[in-house]
Amino acid sequence: MSESTEGNGEGTRAVRAGLPEPVRNEPTLPGPAFAAHFHLPGEVGGPYTYGRDENPTWSLLERAIGELEAPGQVGLQTLVFASGMAAISSVLFSQLRSGDTVVLPNDGYQVLPLVRAQLEAYGIEVRTAPTGGDAQLEVLDGAKLLWIETPSNPGLDVCDIRRLVEAAHARGALVAVDNTLATPLGQRPLELGADFSVASGTKQLTGHGDVLLGYVTGRDGEAMTAVRRWRKIVGAIPGPMEAWLAHRSIATLQLRVDRQNATALVLAEALKGRPDVTGLRYPGLPDDPSHKVASQQMRRYGCVVSFTLPSRERAERFLDALRLVDDATSFGGVRSTAERRGRWGGDAVPDDFVRFSVGAEDPEDLVADVLRALDESAR
Ligand SMILES: *Cc1c(COP(=O)(O)O)cnc(C)c1O
Repeated sequence: MSESTEGNGEGTRAVRAGLPEPVRNEPTLPGPAFAAHFHLPGEVGGPYTYGRDENPTWSLLERAIGELEAPGQVGLQTLVFASGMAAISSVLFSQLRSGDTVVLPNDGYQVLPLVRAQLEAYGIEVRTAPTGGDAQLEVLDGAKLLWIETPSNPGLDVCDIRRLVEAAHARGALVAVDNTLATPLGQRPLELGADFSVASGTKQLTGHGDVLLGYVTGRDGEAMTAVRRWRKIVGAIPGPMEAWLAHRSIATLQLRVDRQNATALVLAEALKGRPDVTGLRYPGLPDDPSHKVASQQMRRYGCVVSFTLPSRERAERFLDALRLVDDATSFGGVRSTAERRGRWGGDAVPDDFVRFSVGAEDPEDLVADVLRALDESAR
């Protein structure tokens, strides 16, 4: 095991994740390898041949993510992709064939309905179930793959990963978990038995709102070989610069996650006292419907808080009145963002639903800004 995996603390692991063995006079984290091809005299072989297949900057990032997703476990692979959707599509389209059945969430990421239509166009049967309440159990018979997203984006429902994995495996189905919202510091699906942990690194993993990235971590074997082949076929690969930026950002993952998630709880507590806020959800709130299951399988509860305001107009005025929070999509960045999620269409949310992503600002400043914007938008 390399030196970089020593130390049990998660902060220690994050700052050292994926670093190569030290080489005198070389940088700690080598810069991006900008290469479409590599020197390759004679026979084809060795790790680096052509830039769509492998790149040394990806290799270090893949090792880093693997060390966080499943510390100390051997026999795992991580593959990085150009985006979260590239990673998700690579699992679905490499594992499923015409005539197979897959179970997807009906309250998950907003692009899943488009993916569903594409799967159906290829003759794959798609069943759906909501995330909360483990309703997936009722539609599992005969499925080849169970796809879960927990906590779900944007509704923040949670399902019991271990329980669903046991049921799926008993029926011969593989299980993939979208781990975007939790990050590997919040939840480690492979330790709970899942076959794939898949995520968008665009969100809290990289955390600065400047990189699109995705990854898949899974056990060595046929299934991951097929995912790797799919990446080669579709070429959904990250650029070396993005991979390097992502790796650099992971060094601060624990700092960011701890700060952002702690503030998310503080904000949720502050919103609880407001009569104009309804449907408040944060899995870290002890009385949240997701909390019981979340506390069994998560170590941190994420940086997203969601709630509804009395009307769409009120929600728009609120977003407009915020000074420290950008009205923008996505989540997980160091700068807080919020949006009226219904403006996109495609999510199962009401018109006055706000998804709020808590950044790394001082908690007092952020909470004061939100409470002021709520007061101002009420007038
Ligand atoms: C953003 C997101 C994705 C898609 O990731 P991209 O990097 O935007 O392609 C997938 N799943 C969840 C839960 C997300 O939040």
